[in-house]
Parts: sequence; structure tokens; C-alpha cells
Amino acid sequence: MGQEQTVTALRNAIKEGKLSHAYLFSGPRGTGKTSIAKIIARAVNCENAENGEPCNRCSSCIDINNGNFMDVIEIDAASNRGIDEIRDLREKVRILPAQGKVKVYIIDEVHMLTTEAFNALLKTIEEPPDRVIFILATTEAQKVPPTIHSRCQIYGFRRLTMKEITGRLEEVAASNDINLDQDARSLIARRANGGLRDALSTLDQIISYKGKNISKKDVMDVLGLVDDVFLASLMDAVFSQDAALIIELIGQAISQGKEAPQLARETALYLRDLLLYTIMGKDTDFRVASNDSLVFLEKQKNKAEKEQIMEALRKIMDVTDKLRFSEGQRFLLEIAFLELSEIFSSERKEPQKRKTSTKKPVNPEKAEKDDARNILWGKILAGVKEKKIPTHALLAQGKLLGVKDDILYIGFKKNYKFHKEKMEEKPNREIMENVIRELFQREMESQFIFVDDEQYNDIIVKKAIEYFGEDIVEIKD
Ligand SMILES: [Zn+2]
Repeated sequence: MGQEQTVTALRNAIKEGKLSHAYLFSGPRGTGKTSIAKIIARAVNCENAENGEPCNRCSSCIDINNGNFMDVIEIDAASNRGIDEIRDLREKVRILPAQGKVKVYIIDEVHMLTTEAFNALLKTIEEPPDRVIFILATTEAQKVPPTIHSRCQIYGFRRLTMKEITGRLEEVAASNDINLDQDARSLIARRANGGLRDALSTLDQIISYKGKNISKKDVMDVLGLVDDVFLASLMDAVFSQDAALIIELIGQAISQGKEAPQLARETALYLRDLLLYTIMGKDTDFRVASNDSLVFLEKQKNKAEKEQIMEALRKIMDVTDKLRFSEGQRFLLEIAFLELSEIFSSERKEPQKRKTSTKKPVNPEKAEKDDARNILWGKILAGVKEKKIPTHALLAQGKLLGVKDDILYIGFKKNYKFHKEKMEEKPNREIMENVIRELFQREMESQFIFVDDEQYNDIIVKKAIEYFGEDIVEIKD
């Protein structure tokens, strides 16, 4: 489906007996590359092929379909990089077909082959034996060496449109007595990103969990997706710099079993939709937004500049990346969203060069980490100041070093021993911990340490400051 030109060309070649010795099929995953390769394998071996199509009933067709046909050899280069298989291929390729008429080698994800395997393959393709066809498939044609390209006939496979995929889902649902409502259908299609196979296997998966009546909510449950209206509300909180609401919504999502990396990824997709919506309006092929969140998009588009959305998008993608390797994910995510809200704050819209007049240029990554820490520290200090000014005066001499496993590490220089010890006393500590609890809506501990203390060499503290960077020596008197 969706590859009509390719199919016509190949069918004609089979009909006329003019198949080439080697093909390269390139295109996104799930668009039909290996399916078509297998149809070719059947068509050339079928006992009663007609019009370039296999009969799908003869013993050859059946054996090929079941993977029991000696002369159709499938190699998945992604799983083993193909060294043994290609060596084996070189030994056996010149042996005539044993069972059928033509040997067909189908090598999937061929770009994953090692250089050694590529060279071996190239030698074989350069002097192709009779009655052998190579069909190479890849999602990344640019990684296939040009020497291979030049020996193959190349066909590009395209992504299917939303309409094609929803249409196909509708057919499949109808013929299996499945009640798949329109929102569910378009959600599956959006998630498949142009790959029909993914859409169909998603549908299978949902049916096996949810039975024959499938709604949008069922799709979200099974795929573990975050509701687009929820994402829209979260972004509303970000746009209005409502830190408490941001933290609350993240807490909600996590208590419902959503994972931090997933939430970050979905937010990135939502921002992508918002960005495209501000540029193209309703004609966008949305990835997460549905009709339900259109009213949010419309409102939010006027609250943000394109540049701000792009900056936010970069930020959240960067965090998504970090979350994959990080412990303490929830906290990272919370900080990331607080940072996002700074990106959209009205102060930022004004000329923002004030800071840069100081001294040396700062390395951008460090500046970014400083931002995250400063934003959080600023919020904590402001909260403490509201509750008790003397406590604020003590705490303001310290600096947030980092957070790990819900413990905040706050550093004081040695000559602020008095401030540190005062902060360690129960009344002051409680004021600060109350502020932190209100901010993060859960218990978090705090530890006060001297920045040149040996505790600073403690592995846990080290890990805690990893995210923020290690510039704590810069605390100024
Ligand atoms: Zn057949």
C-alpha cells in the first residue's frame, strides 16, 4: 500500500523476466520494503505465477510464507551485523537453487553490515551468479556504501499519509468486527508516523488488551501516551509561569504511572505541534494534538514567539536525552519545566543582553546549568523571604549545589560557619523545608555542607552536582 509506482515497475519486470540481480529498497520503517521483497521471492518461485503476481497457494508460495523455503534466505543485518551470514552466503551463493527456480537473498537493515561483510557482499554482487537475486532493504540509504548503490536498482519507499493509514485501519477494523472510533483511529495513525506496519501492529496490540470496542483512551492506555489535553494544560501552566501548578501536574502524571522520559518526549512533540500550528495553522499533520487540544493551541500561539517555542523545544529535547541516563528523573523533569516557564516569561521578551556585559564569555552549557540552579534557588529564597526575613538573610549566604534522591545540597563557604549552623537549627531548617515542600509537593531533605568540606568529595554529593555543573568554587563573598 502506498508504493504503487514501485509495485508496478517490479510487477512488469517479473512478467517480462527482466528482474535485475540486485535491488536496494530504501525508506522509513514499516512502509513495505521486506513485504515487497517477499512477494518478489514468491513471484519468481511460484509454480503458477500470473501477471507478475504469486498465486500464494502452491507449495513454493506456502513454504516461502512460512519461512521453510531453502532458496529464500533472509538476513537481518541489524541483529548480528551479518559477518557469519555473509561468509556463508559467499560459500553457498554459487550453488544452484535446491528447491525452487531462483535463490533470493533478502538482507534487511543492510546499512548495519560491517565493512568486512559489505566487501564480501560487493564481490558477490559484482559477479552475480545466475538465478540469484539480492534484495537489500534499509532505513538509512546514506549509510550504504556508494559501491553497493551503484550495483543495485534503487527504489525509494515513501511514508504513508495520515489519510491512507486511517483508511487502512478502518478497513481492517471493519473486516474484523472491531469498533474503532475515529479519534482512536487517528491517534494510532499519528503515532505510526507514516509506517503502516507500526499502525497495524499497534492495532493488534490494542485489540489483545482491550477487545473489540476501542476508544482514544484505550489507545493511550496501551501505548502509555500522555493525553494531549493534559499536555496542553501543562503548557498553559508553563506559559503563565505557575510553578506550583507545573509541579502539581507533573506529580499527577507520575502518580498515574507515566515515566519522566515519556512525559518529556510527549512535551517535545506537543511543542513541535504548537510550532507548526503557529506557522501553518490547522493544515499541520499533528503528532500529539487532536481536536480536543486545538482550542489550547489557538490560545497558546498568541502567547509565544516562534523563537521561544524553538528554544523550549531544544531545551526539552536536551532533557529527554539526559533523562535516559539519569537517576533522580522526576526532579530533573521538574527543573526542566521550571526552566521552560522562564523561557516564556515576559521579562525574557525584553532586550535580554543585560547579563552579558560582565567579564568573559560564558560557555553555553555551563550558563544553562547555572540558569537551572539559579531559577530553583531564586524560588526557594523568595519563598523563605516571604515566611521569615532573618532566615532568608542566613540562607542567602549559601548556594544550592545540587539535588540527588530528593536531597538538596546547600553549600556555605567556611567563613559563613555561623550562617550554616543557624540554618541547621530546627526552626530555620523547617522554614526552608516547608518552602521546598510547597514547591515540590513532597518531602525533600536538605543537607548543609561547607563547600571546601571533605563532604564535597563525597560520591553522592558529586553526583548531585553533576547535573548543575561544578562551579561552586565561584561563590562570591
Ligand atoms: Zn505460487
